[in-house]
Amino acid sequence: MSANVGRVREPSVSRYSAGRLSPIRRIADLRRLRDEQFDVLVIGGGVTGAGAAVDAASRGLKVALVEARDLAAGTSSRSSKLIHGGLRYLEQLELHLVHEALTERGLLSTRLAPHLVRPVPILVPLPASNPPARVWHRAYYGLGVAAYDAFAGVFGKGRGMPLHRHLTRDGARHLFPSLRAEAVTGAIRYYDGQVDDARLVVTLARTAASLGAAVVTSARVVGFVREAREVVGVRVRDLESPDSPEFEVRARTVVAATGVWSDDMSQMLSDVGVRPGMRVRASKGVHLVVPRSAITGEAGLILRTPTSVLFVIPWGGHWIIGTTDTDWKLDRSHPAASARDIRYLLDQVNTVLDRPLTTDDIEGVYAGLRPLLSGEADSTSKLSREHAVVEPMLGLLLVAGGKYTTYRVMAADVIDHAVRRLGGPARPSLTDELPLLGADGFTAAWRDRHDMARRHGVSAGVVEHLLERYGTLSVHLLAMIAAEPGLATPLTGAPEYLAVEVAYAALAEGALHLDDVLTRRTRISIETAHRGSESAAHAAEVMSDALGWDKAVRDREIEHYLARVAAERQSQTMPDDLTADAARIGVPDVRGFASDRAIDLLADLPMFGDL
Ligand SMILES: Cc1cc2nc3c(=O)[nH]c(=O)nc-3n(C[C@H](O)[C@H](O)[C@H](O)COP(=O)(O)OP(=O)(O)OC[C@H]3O[C@@H](n4cnc5c(N)ncnc54)[C@H](O)[C@@H]3O)c2cc1C
Repeated sequence: MSANVGRVREPSVSRYSAGRLSPIRRIADLRRLRDEQFDVLVIGGGVTGAGAAVDAASRGLKVALVEARDLAAGTSSRSSKLIHGGLRYLEQLELHLVHEALTERGLLSTRLAPHLVRPVPILVPLPASNPPARVWHRAYYGLGVAAYDAFAGVFGKGRGMPLHRHLTRDGARHLFPSLRAEAVTGAIRYYDGQVDDARLVVTLARTAASLGAAVVTSARVVGFVREAREVVGVRVRDLESPDSPEFEVRARTVVAATGVWSDDMSQMLSDVGVRPGMRVRASKGVHLVVPRSAITGEAGLILRTPTSVLFVIPWGGHWIIGTTDTDWKLDRSHPAASARDIRYLLDQVNTVLDRPLTTDDIEGVYAGLRPLLSGEADSTSKLSREHAVVEPMLGLLLVAGGKYTTYRVMAADVIDHAVRRLGGPARPSLTDELPLLGADGFTAAWRDRHDMARRHGVSAGVVEHLLERYGTLSVHLLAMIAAEPGLATPLTGAPEYLAVEVAYAALAEGALHLDDVLTRRTRISIETAHRGSESAAHAAEVMSDALGWDKAVRDREIEHYLARVAAERQSQTMPDDLTADAARIGVPDVRGFASDRAIDLLADLPMFGDL
């Protein structure tokens, strides 16, 4: 094992400074990629890859993480944003999955990320029906939800969520006045966790960096370095410097956590005829975002649909409604929602609402791709959510499947494999004991938030907003405001966010482009009817100051962002996947990652057929 095993970072550097993904840090980490040999190199900065980097770095390994686009740019910013055990899996009697997920929910909400994971109340409406069926429904769902709570109490490492409650029809409508009276006879209220998915990934990546990992985004792996029949590294293209040549990164183990791009990894080894050991297929899930005022309710809803379930979840000043579940074989970088997807979601939710929603209510739309392990069933919603770790070639581990909630389990599993391969002493995973950056001291900071607001001369609302997004790292944003009061200005077109958050994203959270800030560091692109176009100029100005952009760069960033929004809007008017995809891919990624279509077509080559 490498010389620095056990040394996580320079002792003189604070954990916060070490975890700052600044522009200078990117340059230094790029240099490390070229110069050093790593114990573990992780490909993919989604929740699985960032989680694996934390796991490996906290075991004292020398770690690098490379991400082709931005942190969480793939599926991990496009989920339903629930940290959940999955009531549905309980119904399918997949008890081990429920147990695992509820354990993770408890850990995340109480110990690892209490600043990011919060309880959200959800109603299970009991459908209107004849009296015997009514009794049966209440007993059936009641037992299920009671079992869910009991599981969490017994296994949940601190449940972290309030207990469920039965409600009459009036009780349900009191909590959710928009529920159509004749659609329900009552409800059961239970709790699950809610998270800003993109923000948790950034926090994971920064936590890995704080433990000594090199973290580089806009770094696309284009091939493997091999010696005989062993993978000993990767070839990387720095997408921020398109003219600079590809370079090699040496690693004793390569972990590919590339979600719906997993098959591409095996294909990079196709010349030696390796069998990947697993295949991953993509299933598209679309969500709508509508303003909170469009529906009156204090809790979310979970509704049964013909193929799956539909969530209606409160999200700050908005509701998130989703999702669909359909096979997707088109562009994986920018999955597009079609008019048909949108119509389906509106039709489903309108079955229980007293005022039907229309397309005019929609603020944002987003689509994500579930990385499903394929080969078990034809209908995508029945495919297993379980994960798999395979080693298609010595030195290369692929990890895929699972769900956001259980990222830590996947990470521990794949790094267990890596540790066994590396030899040396046993190093069990420590991540169940490791609070992520911003979690330490959060409970006390939240209790003292009014004091904190007074001390920093800002409103309690500002402090609450910051604490819920940055935890105890909020003090750094408040210090930036103290040094430059202009940064306390609300962002044009999205006043719930402050200019300081844009500057901080560029200086400490690895945001390199306007799109990173408007889409993932903040969620302005899905939370405003203008989809961020009215905030683009202001945010670009703040980023220019932070990153030293000249006018040409700033104009290019704005132009790209506006073109992206226009393409997305157009795709959402198209009748089906093919036409929506054609409209969306007209504007490629700002980093030029859109060329995955050619590789996608290779997926059907016979060599990768049924295994
Ligand atoms: C609609 C929808 C709703 C969901 N809701 C929930 C939910 O509420 N709760 C829950 O627990 N789970 C949910 N999930 C599942 C969950 O979101 C995913 O399982 C999880 O985000 C997958 O993360 P990942 O890191 O494996 O993949 P990704 O997030 O896609 O990360 C893979 C990364 O690899 C990078 N990459 C690919 N190729 C390369 C390369 N050559 N070089 C470098 N980098 C590369 C990509 O850019 C990408 O960032 C949902 C999924 C969907 C689609």
